[in-house]
Amino acid sequence: MTQQHIEAVCGRPAAADPYETGSVPVERSVWSLDHTPPAYRRLDADLEADIVVVGAGVVGASLSLHLAEQGVDTVLIDAAQPADAASGRNAGHVQPYLLSLEPLEALPGKGRPLLDCLIENRNIVFDLCARHAIDADQVHSGLLEVARKKSPELETKAQRWAALGLEVEILGPERLRPLLGTERYVSGTLWRNGGCVNPFLFTNGMVGAAIDQGARVYGDSPALACERHGGRWKLRTASGSVLADRVVLCTNGHVGAGFHPQLARTQFPLLACGLATRPLPQALLELINPTRVALSQHPAGLYPMVVDGKGRLITATIPGVGRAHRSDIHFRYFLRHLRRVHPEVGNLRIELETYWTGMTHNSSAVYERAYPKFYRVEEGVFALMNFGSWGNQLGPMMGMDVARALAADRPDNAVLGCERPAEVRFPGLFSTKLRRFLIPAARLADRFDLV
Ligand SMILES: Cc1cc2nc3c(=O)[nH]c(=O)nc-3n(C[C@H](O)[C@H](O)[C@H](O)COP(=O)(O)OP(=O)(O)OC[C@H]3O[C@@H](n4cnc5c(N)ncnc54)[C@H](O)[C@@H]3O)c2cc1C
Repeated sequence: MTQQHIEAVCGRPAAADPYETGSVPVERSVWSLDHTPPAYRRLDADLEADIVVVGAGVVGASLSLHLAEQGVDTVLIDAAQPADAASGRNAGHVQPYLLSLEPLEALPGKGRPLLDCLIENRNIVFDLCARHAIDADQVHSGLLEVARKKSPELETKAQRWAALGLEVEILGPERLRPLLGTERYVSGTLWRNGGCVNPFLFTNGMVGAAIDQGARVYGDSPALACERHGGRWKLRTASGSVLADRVVLCTNGHVGAGFHPQLARTQFPLLACGLATRPLPQALLELINPTRVALSQHPAGLYPMVVDGKGRLITATIPGVGRAHRSDIHFRYFLRHLRRVHPEVGNLRIELETYWTGMTHNSSAVYERAYPKFYRVEEGVFALMNFGSWGNQLGPMMGMDVARALAADRPDNAVLGCERPAEVRFPGLFSTKLRRFLIPAARLADRFDLV
């Protein structure tokens, strides 16, 4: 497939490259291809509420739903429409564990409340879908991390989490072969509480459920200012405002926001890209991944993969510098990987359906000491953000937990604690390191089949 053909499918990169900023239209994302959720109207009135939530990604949607469920009068506004940003563009993996337990030490109760919350809500995505009749093409098929060598690191991690209460198994080649139709991997851990979800539908589903519980939702309404108003806060948009006791910013990076701009420097932004093939024949899917388990590879993780309900293969990665718009390159890498793992794919015609990019903030996959944060920005203004590549699972979970803490008027009781925003040093350094050096090095190793 040529770049020309791909541009015909995915569009030509514009001068100010929206691929590089993660702002190509969300319609490019595979998750929105077959769906047109409701469009919420602009806020054009002066409203009052107990809490106004800014940002209708997976985090703000869950927070609003759980606040409304507890009888808190909630308004949710978004600069665009729900799941327009990272939550509509991700790789669809539901990952029920944390990479590192180290940061727990710094949390309230040495992280025990967070751990308890993680274990108790280990199936939260699937539970929420069931409870609110959300059809998000979710599959509770498990998340499988595979390795080409026996990996003591994977095994230790699995044992630790199993002891804590997650359902996780260590698999050898004989169990992996029927699951993945390949002899390539000798070791794997199957996290049974994980799986895959269409994050665009999931987020939109939670927004719909929040409305059912009484929340009011507005789209196309960027928050422009957040000002003190007596003992309350007034959040202004271009054509309206919300006067509320509390404001919670769930804006992920908060980049470009004129109010509380320091929040944009609390994390390490990173560009990621995703692509999807056209639907594959059922016979081939039966061979490659009959159970639709969500896949990731250890240690490099260059080709995470899920299969959607239509039989498309979906993967995501980090583009090298200057390569964000190069769907041809990323598709070629993926095909090479697929043919290596499944030689029987051979010369079968597999076509790219769509390619997109998006921004994540704190890639916990690499920067594993960075957990999501619940900030007290001012008295009455909070922020829940920095979910890295863990938003699908931790987003709904922390949204639920913070809703519980705020509804009880005890923000400090959130399992993440509630801290003042602290700026990180050199926020751009992480992306540079990864996109300029680590990813190109991993690609080189991959080319020679060394990882
Ligand atoms: C390519 C890619 C692959 C990924 N893969 C995975 C994965 O497999 N599994 C996983 O768990 N995570 C994954 N992630 C990360 C995951 O998508 C994020 O952690 C998660 O979506 C963050 O959710 P959020 O609600 O914090 O932010 P977002 O989804 O970014 O939502 C923030 C919202 O705030 C709104 N907003 C911003 N500023 C304003 C303003 N001033 N006024 C009003 N609204 C505003 C935006 O319009 C947006 O809708 C991936 C991310 C990317 C980009």
